[in-house]
Amino acid sequence: METIITRFPPSPTGYLHVGGARTALFNWLYARKKNGKFILRIEDTDNVRSTQASVDAIFEALDWLELDWDEGPYFQTRRFDVYREYLRRLLDSGDAYYCTCTPDEVEAMRRKAKAQGGKPKYDGRCRERGLPRSDNAVIRFKAPLVGTTVVEDVIKGNIVFQNTEQDDFVVCRSDGTPTYNFVVVVDDITMGINTVIRGDDHVMNTPKQILLYKALKAPLPVFGHVPMVLGKDKTRLSKRHGAMSVTAYRDMGYLPDAFINYLVRLGWSHGDQEFFTRQELVEKFNLENIGKSAGVFDPDKLTALNADHIRATPVGQLAPRALPFFKTMGYDATDDDYLAGVIGTLHTRSKTLVEMAEGAHFYYREDVRPYDEKAAKKFLKPETARVLTQLAEQLDALDNLAQKNQEAAFKKVMESTGLGFGKIAQPVRVALTGTTVSPGIFEVIEVLGKSRVLARLRAAVEFIESTGA
Ligand code: GLU
Repeated sequence: METIITRFPPSPTGYLHVGGARTALFNWLYARKKNGKFILRIEDTDNVRSTQASVDAIFEALDWLELDWDEGPYFQTRRFDVYREYLRRLLDSGDAYYCTCTPDEVEAMRRKAKAQGGKPKYDGRCRERGLPRSDNAVIRFKAPLVGTTVVEDVIKGNIVFQNTEQDDFVVCRSDGTPTYNFVVVVDDITMGINTVIRGDDHVMNTPKQILLYKALKAPLPVFGHVPMVLGKDKTRLSKRHGAMSVTAYRDMGYLPDAFINYLVRLGWSHGDQEFFTRQELVEKFNLENIGKSAGVFDPDKLTALNADHIRATPVGQLAPRALPFFKTMGYDATDDDYLAGVIGTLHTRSKTLVEMAEGAHFYYREDVRPYDEKAAKKFLKPETARVLTQLAEQLDALDNLAQKNQEAAFKKVMESTGLGFGKIAQPVRVALTGTTVSPGIFEVIEVLGKSRVLARLRAAVEFIESTGA
């Protein structure tokens, strides 16, 4: 069977955005599923808008998404020799010709065609003139004058274009630079691309490209045009709907596997399954189930899915991903057992790694004072001091802080004070974390360890005594 070869050919004119990432993902998944090849090509011929910063941003985003490529990155600006060779072929076969019409003349032809109720287009004036190469000549493709060009689209079905609507488009400008549709086709042919999945904003280019394939006697790839991604208000996704740049989601604490899971669901389905691991996606992805209607980007759904992925990821794998966020918070954290313990208490309650890092504040602060004012007022009262003192004594006597040992310690304090568990646990929580919201108190105590716990309980007692309330 033929090896499937897909590609992702971003134009480096900005960061990698959500829609582009989804296109990259679909091509990557399909190549991986078919044990094929995924090629990265940088379409940088627009030298005004292309920047190195954008190239770097695209690499950075693909790297974060863990979409690795088997060939490339190729840069179109380094392939002009190949394009020249293919222009020569078109000229030699009579499928292209030199044209010396000025931009004003072409504009006048377009206006005339429009005034006559047709599509604005070049009228073919130089088509049969057999002009030689000259400084001011462009090269035009000799498009068929009759018939139809059919895009057999695996997603949209057949799309029929009338060739009468097509003009003899320019394939090479007078300064010698080849044009977009031409270089895409030459690249796809020479790189052996046999599957082209891209956004449907490119569907109007496809008939031009098919005509070029035919003129160059190259087999057509399979084409699939994926509907755009929309915002919740059903308009095309833009900054108004939230961050567009893929790496912004990295910085907001999303996991790459959650992000690709969400991206894939913006245009592909497998029954009503929502949660997929990367491995499952590679196994299950197919072109047949890419949807015909536009996906709607819903940041809340992405966040919910991220929470599911964080919960499902083993602590050992989360730790290196979470660590940079802990460092950003200013914590003196390293990838050690303590971090693993901390994450173990937080990973079922954090929707993002940022939220996890925020929730870990009390684990890394030397002192949790000043306490949350309301919490202190409500729970650190004079009658609490003896509860905290007794608990400190009980915990101090323990060899280790395993949960069942802690339970016994709490029980003793409950018996001697006559208070219920809740009445004890909440002041303890405030003493240990500074607030009233935290993971389970036994887990917190176990992770903090005896010396921190005792120091904090004693500090809370001091605080109560000092306020003299
Ligand atoms: N360079 C084009 C883009 O960034 C992609 C062209 C294609 O997939 O054929 O939109």
